[in-house]
Amino acid sequence: MSRFWSDIVHRLTPYVPGEQPALAHPVKLNTNENPYPPSPRVLEAIRRELGEDGASLRKYPDPTARALREAVAKHHGLRIEQVFAGNGSDEVLAHAFQALLKHDRPIRFPDITYSFYPVYAQLYGVEYETMPLNADFAIDVDDYRAPCGGVLLPNPNAPTGRALPLSEIEVLLKANPDAPVIVDEAYVDFGAESAVNLIDAYPNLLVVQTTSKARSLAGMRVGFAFGDPALIEALTRVKDSFNSYPLDRLAQVAALASYEDQAWFEETCAKVIASRDKLTSQLQTLGFDVVPSAANFVFAKHPSHDAATLAAALKAKEIFVRHFKLPRIDQHLRISIGTPAECDALVAALTEIVA
Ligand SMILES: *Cc1c(COP(=O)(O)O)cnc(C)c1O
Repeated sequence: MSRFWSDIVHRLTPYVPGEQPALAHPVKLNTNENPYPPSPRVLEAIRRELGEDGASLRKYPDPTARALREAVAKHHGLRIEQVFAGNGSDEVLAHAFQALLKHDRPIRFPDITYSFYPVYAQLYGVEYETMPLNADFAIDVDDYRAPCGGVLLPNPNAPTGRALPLSEIEVLLKANPDAPVIVDEAYVDFGAESAVNLIDAYPNLLVVQTTSKARSLAGMRVGFAFGDPALIEALTRVKDSFNSYPLDRLAQVAALASYEDQAWFEETCAKVIASRDKLTSQLQTLGFDVVPSAANFVFAKHPSHDAATLAAALKAKEIFVRHFKLPRIDQHLRISIGTPAECDALVAALTEIVA
């Protein structure tokens, strides 16, 4: 605390990301990073951009990330005016709070969801109401029918991993024609249906995606929003009032190259999905209740072992999982899908601890 702090800083409760342990070989299953490296084409693109002497780094990058947005637009069958690029989807979401969700009425999101949402709401002074997930941690779209300032939800949801079918997303869009509906698709490539194809039909839809999870580029910080050009223009106006160059040169070429290697992307996702399904049944064998996941993590609870104690016992073995000290979910662990060897190490450790 300091007398130099602004009022708003005194009142903030910042988001706390999962630990990045300073160990040589941790089994790191706590921040939903991809266990596989990005496509080799990403490395080639970065090397090409750097050249012999890195002289390109003298110059500012393209402030509009035009080549990247063009490639991603083509990938999704969109026009470039329907694509916004930002420094990670967290930044894209932050701009959406300021550009699209700040109105008189409170916005709505689930009670159990990405814990960054209430942080942005506080930062930007956006009122919100949380809608309780049902006992199975499913979203009931009927909760979002009354008029509100906007709807925000991840699909699949985090940290539960549960996906909503596209038909239910469409119910949300129809029920809220006068409010933005933001679908955060950080994990969509691991088993949910993207709402991207609904963009032409619904001017109130904004779809947010990231290269951090399915494209193995969390370290590069590249995220997107897709929607009606008017929504994209709102985000661009905020961006250009905040940071003209949110994406550096290397991030732009790296992300673009990842969209040029569809085979690598599909193989990586398939491996993660296969490991997730195997881990789910192994955890069930150990007595865990596992929420059906369409993401690159599972959300699991043991009926007779305290979640915080389990997380601490795993950490003692240098295995990191995520535990949230939050209402309704403080007995759950969120476990990111690692390589088969990492999943095996987790299962071996849990078998010992639970026995
Ligand atoms: C990981 C995650 C993000 C943020 O991703 P970045 O692009 O790395 O900022 C956004 N939303 C959800 C639900 C996430 O889990």
